[in-house]
Amino acid sequence: MAFKTEAFVLRTRTWREADRLYYLFTPHEGLITAVVKAAAKSSSKLSGHLPPFAKVKVMIGRGKMDHVAGTHLIKDYQNIRTNIRNISLAASIVELFLGEASSGPRWKEFQLLEEMMVLLNDKRLTDEQKMLLVRTFLWKFLSISGWHPQLDHCIICGCSVSSGAYLPGKGVVCMQDRSANALLMSKDLLQFLREILSRPLIDVLDISIAKQLNREWLQASQAYYQEVYDRPSQALKLFIYG
Ligand SMILES: [Zn+2]
Repeated sequence: MAFKTEAFVLRTRTWREADRLYYLFTPHEGLITAVVKAAAKSSSKLSGHLPPFAKVKVMIGRGKMDHVAGTHLIKDYQNIRTNIRNISLAASIVELFLGEASSGPRWKEFQLLEEMMVLLNDKRLTDEQKMLLVRTFLWKFLSISGWHPQLDHCIICGCSVSSGAYLPGKGVVCMQDRSANALLMSKDLLQFLREILSRPLIDVLDISIAKQLNREWLQASQAYYQEVYDRPSQALKLFIYG
């Protein structure tokens, strides 16, 4: 059986001497690992059309192990690869997708990944803007991957909350229901999080973020991230240097 699908090329590595293994993120099945036979030879046409971070259309031959039977390059985000800071930002995003364990439709994640790659590839944006976009991306990604924080009502009593405290990865709690492991959340941060989660990724560039808010956001991001992932990762570092 074979099927065609769009995919992002997340990572590649050599496999059994001459072959290459490709980690592809697809909207229908999430992460797919597929072999390209004899990709190490310079004559291989298939692997030439699968540059890292690119959006491609592939024909996947399904078998005991999936293999790539055909490729078509849709968009090569080549500016990402020419700049070490872009590569490092893209790598921390890719790491999240490689960590996806369950397979199944991933339309929202695929769309968000595309939004992110387009922006990382954009030469008009500064390094600072890209860093901000990646931090925002992480919130949006976790939010659509089953960790959507409840930000409108107290998760314990259901009352409407405009500031108070929150439980990382879960949501806000009012001051009455605040437990020892809850972190304080200002009105500004709550408003900011509601906005970035409901608007397109690029909109964060229009929001002015005061120093205090930024500090609070990074703190909340670390706590959120650590609640979801039990191992340290490259992406976590994005929240550390302010
Ligand atoms: Zn409450």
